[in-house]
Amino acid sequence: MIEEEQSLKKLRQGVREVCERFPNEYWRELDAKREYPEEFVRAMTEAGYLAALIPEEYGGMGLNLLASCAILEEANRSGANANPAHAQMYVMGTLLRHGSREQKREYLPKIASGELRLQAFGVTEPQAGTDTTRISTLAERRGDKYVVNGRKIYISRVQYSDLMILLARTTPLEEVEKRSHGLSAFILDLRGLLGKNLRVKRRRVMMNNFTNELEFKNVEVPAKNLIGEEGEGFRYIMDGMNAERILIAAECIGDGRFFIERATERANEREVFGRRIGQNQGIQFPIAQTYARVEAANLMVQKAAGLFDRGEKCGPEANMAKLLAADASWEAANVAMQTFGGYGVDAEYDIERKFRETRLYQLAPIPTNLILSYIAEHVLGLPRSF
Ligand SMILES: Cc1cc2nc3c(=O)[nH]c(=O)nc-3n(C[C@H](O)[C@H](O)[C@H](O)COP(=O)(O)OP(=O)(O)OC[C@H]3O[C@@H](n4cnc5c(N)ncnc54)[C@H](O)[C@@H]3O)c2cc1C
Repeated sequence: MIEEEQSLKKLRQGVREVCERFPNEYWRELDAKREYPEEFVRAMTEAGYLAALIPEEYGGMGLNLLASCAILEEANRSGANANPAHAQMYVMGTLLRHGSREQKREYLPKIASGELRLQAFGVTEPQAGTDTTRISTLAERRGDKYVVNGRKIYISRVQYSDLMILLARTTPLEEVEKRSHGLSAFILDLRGLLGKNLRVKRRRVMMNNFTNELEFKNVEVPAKNLIGEEGEGFRYIMDGMNAERILIAAECIGDGRFFIERATERANEREVFGRRIGQNQGIQFPIAQTYARVEAANLMVQKAAGLFDRGEKCGPEANMAKLLAADASWEAANVAMQTFGGYGVDAEYDIERKFRETRLYQLAPIPTNLILSYIAEHVLGLPRSF
């Protein structure tokens, strides 16, 4: 136990050292220009952190989810935005758990070394956001390949990734008995496709996120790139959702800590009416309250990650961790904004940037309502609402 705590402490220290090379000015500038944090992603890859969950036999760090959470938390706590780099951590889980030995041997070592990036995950479509089973992008088997046609939306980092885990229908919705059947997962090699059979149009969103509209026109995928069995893709993707939720929750904890640390610092320094604003209970109580909420949410993140690492059922805890952590970081964002007064909306103070970044986690990768309905239905046994 002590050994695990010490290695986690060392890991956190290592992440902090990488992040120190990317101060808040770096993120502010990229945010203004809407540019990708190429150097940060490279540094995190070279340090091995983006291969944290890849087993050592494939060249990764072979860490557990708890340790991987610490990496993302520390990144966001520093003022960075781990979002442009984080997908690799959980996207490769589909490949790791359900891919063939050949696929794992071919891709995982290259992902671990940074030779290939797996940062893209193609699920959402204009007619299918939270209701994934409604996706209609079709992959038709023709000989030794699949031919993909369709549209996707809000697919992030496509321009900065070599590979994508793609979810497509191999049997149209009308022809399946159960809506979750007939979906398949593929490893799509993006190299050479962009601007040709795969049209990519960037969507400008509230934060510096590299998300896109995609149009697949006869995109060919070798049949050997099918992950697992045809028609089972929905189950494979869902399998990875708990890890994704727990990792995102850890990012929210990092955001929450960033806001609390910055708000505390400001409250201790800023003098108004001849005294520090932090002396007013109207300023200190909200910071204290949000601190308690971030710490409580963190306990749920730790619990969920622990269950996941022991191979135990963790659906309720993963969902609750995401819910509580996203709410806590959003509350902390508002508290920091209020503490900073007018300076809160000034780009130079980084609060408004992180405020926009952390707001996303109320909506994506899963909106809060869907988590609440999961808890209501699957934990409390209330009737399904949709
Ligand atoms: C910046 C960004 C990056 C993204 N990156 C990716 C990516 O890389 N890959 C990818 O596949 N997707 C990505 N997404 C998509 C994201 O996962 C979806 O936006 C999300 O799943 C919600 O889907 P939607 O936007 O279509 O909302 P909708 O499904 O249209 O839902 C709209 C609202 O209605 C609510 N709602 C719907 N049904 C119910 C119900 N039954 N009960 C109560 N409330 C309900 C939802 O909670 C939500 O608040 C990204 C999105 C954003 C904004």
